Amino acid sequence: MTRQIKVGKFKIGGGADIAIQSMAKTDTRDVAATVREIKALENAGCEIARVAIKDFQAASAIKNIRKKIKIPLVADIHFDHRLAIACIENGADKIRLNPGNIHREEHVIEVAKLAKKRHVPIRVGVNSGSVRLEAQGSRLKAEGLRLNADALVKSALDYIKILEKAKFYDIIVSLKASDVLTTIEAYRKFSKKSDYPLHLGVTAAGPIATGLVKSAIGIGVLLLEGIGDTIRVSLTGNPCEEVIAAKNILQALNLRNFGPEIISCPTCGRCQVDLQSVVKRLAFSLQPSAFSQKAVKIAVMGCEVNGPGEAKEADIGIAFGKNAGVLFKKGKVVKKVKTKDAIKAILNNI
Ligand code: SF4
Repeated sequence: MTRQIKVGKFKIGGGADIAIQSMAKTDTRDVAATVREIKALENAGCEIARVAIKDFQAASAIKNIRKKIKIPLVADIHFDHRLAIACIENGADKIRLNPGNIHREEHVIEVAKLAKKRHVPIRVGVNSGSVRLEAQGSRLKAEGLRLNADALVKSALDYIKILEKAKFYDIIVSLKASDVLTTIEAYRKFSKKSDYPLHLGVTAAGPIATGLVKSAIGIGVLLLEGIGDTIRVSLTGNPCEEVIAAKNILQALNLRNFGPEIISCPTCGRCQVDLQSVVKRLAFSLQPSAFSQKAVKIAVMGCEVNGPGEAKEADIGIAFGKNAGVLFKKGKVVKKVKTKDAIKAILNNI
């Protein structure tokens, strides 16, 4: 169990729901474009949004962006601690500092003092691409594959000591590597040594197909072990895809419910209907709507081999034959429906 901190209205850690984060991909200085992207993220279900702060113009944009969005806004800071100070003054709900490039103790303490005064939490965002070399040391280097995980953990723990010197404890930690196994190892090791809440993610996970797999494995393994308090799926693509992926990971692990879940077979030579099209249309009909919060499992199966079994197990199910299917609700047969009426029949029974 981690300690709990607050980011805007969201509680992170201490058994709170695992919050979904993403990051705008716009130039933060372009307030209109950034607000547009964050609003799209909000609609997709993002609960905390981060923006990159490259310069003081971006830091001052925080003020205007903040006014126009509903979810907490996180300022992502590298290299210059004065940008963090400007963002706190401009109303950022959380600051991410990179120990790899903001490491002078007096700078970190200066940021921590202001953050404490304004009740703004800080994420110690360690990243394998920018971890401080001096954190590794020759002993760690000798450990081969473990070098990176140990270096990530040490980097975070050293930084936390500096923040704690300033009596600052509203800390969240991330230990992201682009390698899934290193990421898992780093979070496991850190969680044995500290109870600060953890922001999970596999950094630079890649384009959608590979990024989804790496993130689902990295984040999923840790969540199954009870490690992690908030997640960000990192994909080279539309950030709304990151949010959908995060929701799917949490729902697959039964950690949160975001609405109906479709269970459908891959189809094979036994299938006599266009199941792909039925499932696609059903998924479209279930997009945010009156049904969106209902935790129902809907099975859509292509034939009588596994079809009736899965359809009976789900809350609602349909097992197709030729041009028609048998509709089940809570394990009982409701009726036989023609393929063209299947979606309507499913929706009517939710
Ligand atoms: S349920 Fe039937 S159609 Fe679907 S994959 Fe299994 S055997 Fe093939």
